[in-house]
Amino acid sequence: MAGRVTYERKENIGLITVDNPPVNALGHDVRVGFKNALEEGLADRYVQALVLIGGGRTFPAGADISEFGKSLTEPDLRAVIAAYEASRKPVIAAIHGTALGGGLELALGCHYRIAQDTAQVGLPEVNLGILPGAGGTQRLPRLIGIEAALDMITTGKFVKAPQAKEMGIVDEVTNGDLLEAALAFAENVIDQKLPLRKIRDLTAELKDEGVFDQYRANFKKRARGFLAPFKCIDCVEYCVTKDFDEGLALERERFSECLNSSQSKGQRHMFFAEREVSKIPDVPKDTPIRPIETVGVLGAGTMGGGIAMNFANAGIPVTLVEANQEALDRGLSIIEKNYANTVKKGRLSQEAMNKRMGLITGSLSYDDFSNVDMVIEAVFEEMGLKKEIFTKLDAACKPGAILASNTSTLDLDAIAACTKRPEDVIGTHFFSPANVMKLLELVRGEKTAKDVIATSMKLAKTIKKVAVLAGNCDGFIGNRMLFKYFEQAQYLLEEGALPQDVDRALYDFGLAMGPFAMSDLAGNDVSWRIRQRQKSEAPEGAPYSGETADRICEEGRYGQKTGTGWYDYEPGNRTPQPSKTVEDIILKVSEEKGVKRRSIDDEEIFKRCIYALVNEGAKILEEGIALRSKDIDVTYVYGYGFPVYRGGPMFFADQMGLRNVLSDIERFRNEGVNGEVWEPAPLIEKLVKEGKSFDDL
Ligand code: NAD
Repeated sequence: MAGRVTYERKENIGLITVDNPPVNALGHDVRVGFKNALEEGLADRYVQALVLIGGGRTFPAGADISEFGKSLTEPDLRAVIAAYEASRKPVIAAIHGTALGGGLELALGCHYRIAQDTAQVGLPEVNLGILPGAGGTQRLPRLIGIEAALDMITTGKFVKAPQAKEMGIVDEVTNGDLLEAALAFAENVIDQKLPLRKIRDLTAELKDEGVFDQYRANFKKRARGFLAPFKCIDCVEYCVTKDFDEGLALERERFSECLNSSQSKGQRHMFFAEREVSKIPDVPKDTPIRPIETVGVLGAGTMGGGIAMNFANAGIPVTLVEANQEALDRGLSIIEKNYANTVKKGRLSQEAMNKRMGLITGSLSYDDFSNVDMVIEAVFEEMGLKKEIFTKLDAACKPGAILASNTSTLDLDAIAACTKRPEDVIGTHFFSPANVMKLLELVRGEKTAKDVIATSMKLAKTIKKVAVLAGNCDGFIGNRMLFKYFEQAQYLLEEGALPQDVDRALYDFGLAMGPFAMSDLAGNDVSWRIRQRQKSEAPEGAPYSGETADRICEEGRYGQKTGTGWYDYEPGNRTPQPSKTVEDIILKVSEEKGVKRRSIDDEEIFKRCIYALVNEGAKILEEGIALRSKDIDVTYVYGYGFPVYRGGPMFFADQMGLRNVLSDIERFRNEGVNGEVWEPAPLIEKLVKEGKSFDDL
């Protein structure tokens, strides 16, 4: 404990330094250290002011989240901050790196703040499903005004030092030595006899009384289903309706409500999961990395174009090869249009757009791949074509180049076997739209080399994706589970529901959209082709859920792109309208299959679809296709619009209680019309017997 916070005297100034690598998190030892150091400074009669600074790379960057949910040992952060604010000697916070969450709240308890020009400040608690619970919601609005504080607290966004100065969060910014500048600042406070500026005594400026309702209305859409942003708004409103101490007490109540909610548990689970999935047990940190300075992309369709943009955005030159000039021109013009839209929205400068476009070179020849460090293939999902292409890529690419496929379902080992270097082959499964979606599902073939995995994981970070490593099987982690989910969604139609019923239940559960709206968006023909392949590979008489979907496709209802799919679409409007034609098809299929239709409630709908994900997820875990249940959760939250506040399907199942999940699955199997497809995963049965959860694995 000793030594995490040190106190020393610099002439007439007491210097308090926290040294708790990596981010000076405000755990118990640090809090005790701060209290002791303050007492020392106050007792030191030669000292007239105090400077509080972070050792290493940052000012405290937040609370110690591993303490959340455990019983707190005194002093809590609020008591430490109150003690600093009450100090009779002025305290100056000297900020470098990132003063986030509790770190910024501590700085707000000081009387003055000075920041390095490269520093950033923020209150990102909302992203963990909580709110700043150590006075942040009461002090920040008093310092910078209600509107600016609402924006920062409800979005969790970071503010860079120069802007923080403009907003009034910090009093001075320095581009020189921070400690020197802070000591000089303190001298000045002493010389000028500047007052102890206690934020608690300020009045929060409110320009527009309607702002709270406006925020609530906005966040209803923007943060559908989330709890924390609304609690943040409530707290900021207390700055206007309550006095400081009352506001502080109410902030604490709202904080506890958030902290104890299942939402925050889910969001904190995701926070740790995202960090853990980057660790691959048999690919150690020191695995060599192959330099990736140039990339080739084959196919400039929906996926290829988006994939190319990722690399251009990261400053990596891309060679984009297509089958013919027309397809190449189309692909390039879509990329250009996408960038132009971003420029129009003011989120990218014209100059940056030109630079990015300049990094993408179109070509019709594989010869132009001869020097690239990695090629990602994104042509049609056909095994014959992929095999032919990998033979050609093997011949065209230099030794050591990584050959990657964006296949979403096909056998990666069969693709790798067409090359003389299967160790250089990996799956890089991007999600649509590839330039937007955060997930990159990497697929490890039987022979994929460890340095190819390490390189691809690192590359994912470079292009700002979260990579999850999956094993090779039909659909890998994400789509293999999705097949089971969609299977249930389709059986629900046969048994009595309509697409809009299924979609509504899952939308209300928190998914970005239900399965039928999603299929219309992705193109129903895509899953049709996959179903045809799977049907041809399945044993005779195997249960089949795709009759309705097949008929929808046979009628040319491919989804939004054809104007009709599971729903009807008015020209230029993407809002799904329930379709009478589709309803007729569904009723006909029920009749032909001899299924007596019944009314199905939302609970059965969401449980059947979500537990189908969970059950298959458990099988995937058992087979080692996913390394941890967290990998599945990250895949679903970042790749499939699963609500982050539910923590992913496996975490959600843990929260429901695996015993309950298993008993529902058994009921679906024993009582369901299509019950034969429900075979409980042995892993779930085992965990239930042992009284464990997925998270215990
Ligand atoms: P797409 O039909 O939009 O594009 C495929 C492109 O490949 C076309 O432009 C075509 O001209 C080109 N092409 C075909 N043969 C070629 C050849 N021999 N040489 C060069 N170019 C050739 O398809 P897509 O949706 O972009 O899918 C591409 C791959 O990505 C598939 O394997 C698919 O399963 C996978 N995928 C698709 C999605 C999605 O949502 N669309 C998501 C993840 C993965």
